[in-house]
Amino acid sequence: MMNDTTGQSAAKVRLYGLPNSAEAYKIRDFLNRSVVEFDWIELTNDQDCDRELGFSALSDLRLPIIEFPDGTQLFSPSIREIAQRLGWVTQPKFREYDSFFLETSVPGSFAAGDVRHGSVKRVASAVGEGAMAVTFVHQYLEENR
Ligand SMILES: Cc1cc2nc3c(=O)[nH]c(=O)nc-3n(C[C@H](O)[C@H](O)[C@H](O)COP(=O)(O)OP(=O)(O)OC[C@H]3O[C@@H](n4cnc5c(N)ncnc54)[C@H](O)[C@@H]3O)c2cc1C
Repeated sequence: MMNDTTGQSAAKVRLYGLPNSAEAYKIRDFLNRSVVEFDWIELTNDQDCDRELGFSALSDLRLPIIEFPDGTQLFSPSIREIAQRLGWVTQPKFREYDSFFLETSVPGSFAAGDVRHGSVKRVASAVGEGAMAVTFVHQYLEENR
């Protein structure tokens, strides 16, 4: 684990799991893509389990386990649960919402180009929508200061 300049252990997300675990790989991939700093700790036997987590038997655990900087842990979590815990799944502020063109169901988040539902899948439209989305983002920020 990395240390900060005071010599204390920097609080980071920690992920514990079995080597070659597909579930753990999925979470690591998600954290990497989301630029969340984390430590990956492989548990290969009961000794690792005891040393790292204070549980005596690896087979008793629902792996992988993710531990957040405040010390809370989720056992065998879904990506959505992790995102929720990181504060990224929020509720809209208003029950009804007058959305901008190209705005997604997440207020203030816009989509342009092939990724947008119902797009015509052409270069010119992708570029045009990209430029429009930038304008709408500016308007959104102006209205929601
Ligand atoms: C074979 C082919 C021929 C085509 N011919 C034409 C044509 O003649 N005329 C025409 O107008 N259109 C054509 N199109 C369609 C055109 O290419 C697309 O409509 C256009 O490229 C869409 O642009 P975009 O920016 O929306 O998406 P893309 O050009 O697909 O760009 C999306 C980018 O996001 C990246 N990305 C994806 N996921 C992630 C992630 N999680 N993190 C970071 N980056 C990510 C991708 O790597 C990619 O670089 C063709 C498409 C194909 C496949």
